[in-house]
Amino acid sequence: SADSFDTIVIGAGAAGLFCAGVAGQLGLHVLLLDHGERVAEKIRISGGGRCNFTNRELDPRAPHRHFLGENPQFCRSALSRYTPQDFIALVQKHGIAFHEKHKGQLFGDRSSEDFIRMLQAECGAGGVVHRQPCSVKAIRAVEGVERYEVDTDQGTVRSRHLVIATGGLSIPKIGATDFGYRVAKQFGLRMVEPRPALVPLTFDGDAWAPYSQLAGLALPVAIETGEKKQRMVFHEDLLFTHRGLSGPAVLQISSYWRDGQPIRVDLMPDVDIGARLLHAKATSRKRVANELAALVPTRLADAWAGQDPAWQRPVNEASDKSLAALADRLSNWTLVPSGSEGYRKAEVTAGGVDTRDLSSQTLESKQPGLYFIGEVVDVTGWLGGYNFQWAWASGYAAAQAMVAA
Ligand code: FAD
Repeated sequence: SADSFDTIVIGAGAAGLFCAGVAGQLGLHVLLLDHGERVAEKIRISGGGRCNFTNRELDPRAPHRHFLGENPQFCRSALSRYTPQDFIALVQKHGIAFHEKHKGQLFGDRSSEDFIRMLQAECGAGGVVHRQPCSVKAIRAVEGVERYEVDTDQGTVRSRHLVIATGGLSIPKIGATDFGYRVAKQFGLRMVEPRPALVPLTFDGDAWAPYSQLAGLALPVAIETGEKKQRMVFHEDLLFTHRGLSGPAVLQISSYWRDGQPIRVDLMPDVDIGARLLHAKATSRKRVANELAALVPTRLADAWAGQDPAWQRPVNEASDKSLAALADRLSNWTLVPSGSEGYRKAEVTAGGVDTRDLSSQTLESKQPGLYFIGEVVDVTGWLGGYNFQWAWASGYAAAQAMVAA
């Protein structure tokens, strides 16, 4: 009947659109629902409007290198069965031009809209019925071949399979909700506490005052957090903001940072700053700030040298000890963020539906016929196209499984 489907996919973002298209083309009768006014808002704003759609450096055999979660191996199966190369082939088939930025990141040449149109065309080719905006009021598991009933503001629909692709909590302004987490709880699935990730970090007003004048300044750094086996290091650009730190370096480290932990920043990762300062002391009469300005942006040099009277003098008059202290302060700048900019600014949500209650092969949950794909799952990628690749790969795995079931 008109309200009866093989599969209902809730959430027409990256994972839901892709899964629906694949499942439809494999012969399933698919209904795709989303409460948003516009389809795939997150793809639209992604990658600065150009969509960083995958990453060539992704290694499915070593997923822990670019993904985090309670079980970093969980994503391995899906990622190895639908690879960046597979998605690149689809992009090429649709004639979308793209280019590589640094570290394997692939972006569209023109606009994210190209990718949204591509996914919609794939849904069209699979005969997917797409209702949007359409909100879901309730979900029920029922007896019979059609195991699910979904009450929507456009009536009740039924299906054998139900796919939850409603994403995480990031950017509530464009429609993020905790819907997926509530469905997980309804069916007794465990959750890993969600938290903002790929997010700028903030610092207390007073502690940050000396640095707030640096807002807008960017430079390449090495940044790290965690001790011993938990230690993570990134070599990326750091950006000073009015409230704290951002830029790719900080977004990456934020996913690993936990409340109360310090982060450590090497502002001159390619320079032995201690040796340089001692050499300057022996050969120069310039002020310490001027010596530093040869190595880092002038504003940064001034802000650092200004922090201690011992550094506000000609370099040849500074003690070895004070120069060593300055070098340490530059190469091992240790600071404890007071928090993050939160879901309002986070590019993703870490945590989510606990992978212990999902199959890594199929993304089906312990509740038969109920699947979770994309960001709603406790799988979080690095900055650089990894989150989209997880959306594509998990959507593909679920589609394949539903056809076989
Ligand atoms: P989403 O794409 O968020 O889709 C979820 C869908 O579910 C939405 O359409 C939403 O309207 C719908 N929904 C939510 N609640 C309900 C409900 N109650 N009822 C019905 N529908 C609902 N990742 C990359 O890999 N590369 C990038 O370049 C990149 N850039 C980004 C830039 C920004 C600013 C942000 C915020 C994120 C970026 N990401 C990027 C992350 C990436 O966008 C997400 O990880 C990805 O979109 C997750 O896909 P998803 O399908 O799981 O969720």
